[in-house]
Amino acid sequence: MENKKIKRDAVLVLLCIIISAAVYFIINIYVKKDGAYAVVKVDGEIIRSLELNKNTSVIVHGYQGGSNIIVVDNGQVYMTDADCPDKLCERTGRISRTGESIVCLPHRVVVEIQGNTAERIDSVVQ
Ligand SMILES: [Zn+2]
Repeated sequence: MENKKIKRDAVLVLLCIIISAAVYFIINIYVKKDGAYAVVKVDGEIIRSLELNKNTSVIVHGYQGGSNIIVVDNGQVYMTDADCPDKLCERTGRISRTGESIVCLPHRVVVEIQGNTAERIDSVVQ
């Protein structure tokens, strides 16, 4: 009797794992599809929008003459070579999902991932 119960519990646990794995997988695909652009803001103004499917790197001149390099690499975005004092933006690491962002407070630079409906900036305003 006890064995039967354990077996049933094991099946239930396994089922739960499979379902949550499937859900995770589906959400992952959805969200990844969604994250289409990295919008770059300096002092609250959008200066660039980078497509995540194009590998690139751009230098952004932030507030008070600071600079950050924003790299797009295989759908992921990260900051490097920032000359801010805290380097928190570099330490944030890679982002790729809609709603995720990298903030460089000293330079007032924000990189935010937005979906396909994101406001497209085709011309660069500097
Ligand atoms: Zn920084």
